[in-house]
Amino acid sequence: MFNPVLASVIRLTRERDADALAVSVLETIVSLTTADWIRMHEVTDAQRGQLEQSIELRFFESDDVPGGVQKQWDLEPRPSLGDDSLGECMHAAVPMVERVSGTSSDEEGTRHLFPILSAGQALGVLEIRVAVELSAAECSLVQGFLAVFGNYLALLDEGARDKLTGLFNRRTFEEKLTRLLKLQRERRRPVSNTSENPRRQEPGPDTRAWLGILDLDHFKRINDTYGHAYGDEVLLTVAQKLRASFRKTDLLFRFGGEEFVVILEPIPAEMAFHVFERFRISLAEHLFHEIGTVTASVGFAAIAPMDYPPAILERADRALYYAKDHGRNCTFQYEVLVARGALSPQHRIGSIDLF
Ligand code: GH3
Ligand code: MG
Ligand code: MG
Repeated sequence: MFNPVLASVIRLTRERDADALAVSVLETIVSLTTADWIRMHEVTDAQRGQLEQSIELRFFESDDVPGGVQKQWDLEPRPSLGDDSLGECMHAAVPMVERVSGTSSDEEGTRHLFPILSAGQALGVLEIRVAVELSAAECSLVQGFLAVFGNYLALLDEGARDKLTGLFNRRTFEEKLTRLLKLQRERRRPVSNTSENPRRQEPGPDTRAWLGILDLDHFKRINDTYGHAYGDEVLLTVAQKLRASFRKTDLLFRFGGEEFVVILEPIPAEMAFHVFERFRISLAEHLFHEIGTVTASVGFAAIAPMDYPPAILERADRALYYAKDHGRNCTFQYEVLVARGALSPQHRIGSIDLF
């Protein structure tokens, strides 16, 4: 009914998940051009401009399919090391074309690099290999799809964030946590060649990801005494402090009114305690104009690979309520409270958690 390009745009804009959208864009480009090898490199560390190969469409010969060529997506993130052209393409924000002469015949041909931009920011690079250079019309089609991709990603990102603070909102929490759990499970699988990806090494026994809930103390009083505008100003400052205090790779959410959730990358328990305490102390030491000091209580719990998001939240929440009941402006770890006998452990019956 529609022409193929329009049909692809309609299909793409049906996606609501950034990864699924990226896969769809790559599939579309492969189907509409002569590209026979495609790979997306995404920025994983914006400060250092570090790129990671995130999605690759592999083609391999197979007797099982008509035409003898099978396609398979590889979604395993790997560092894109030692490839200066990628950085050059991204920073100059211009497409590049290179001749490649590899060791095997299928590596020979042309390599196209296209920058991926979203809301004026460089997001990564799309790499395409072809036997014969893409035509000008094909290049412009690729750039057009990458522009749609960038704009649509910016929209998805806007919907995933809280309007006041710019932190992720509660709606995205489950999706981000589920993705993290999936990644953790994959990293735990035995790997034959870990040198290929240094990040996939086994973590230490006490190294786990953590979820913390941070709730401002007596926040209602601030609103009641100084007004809502002052309350909002405090929330903004807290969000800025969270960004400054935690790593870029940790996930920050504004969960509700004056409640924030932080997911920490895998680190040992003492370090997690220290990281949450560092934030709590830096907030307590901050002097807010007219208001004076504002404090927060923190409860955190370990995230196990086979965990279930509401159960993790519940554990951190119980540690938070313990902190609220024990003077506020303090940090407690759920597992420590259970070991001490201060909290009863969580039991699971089917999919229901009981305390
Ligand atoms: P506790 O120490 O027990 O956490 O006390 P609290 O007063 O912080 O907790 P409570 O849950 O009773 O009150 C939370 C208050 O947060 C209620 C509301 O006035 C305020 N609040 C919620 N959302 C917003 C917002 O977007 N802006 C502002 N300014 N205030 C908000
Ligand atoms: Mg509160
Ligand atoms: Mg609250």
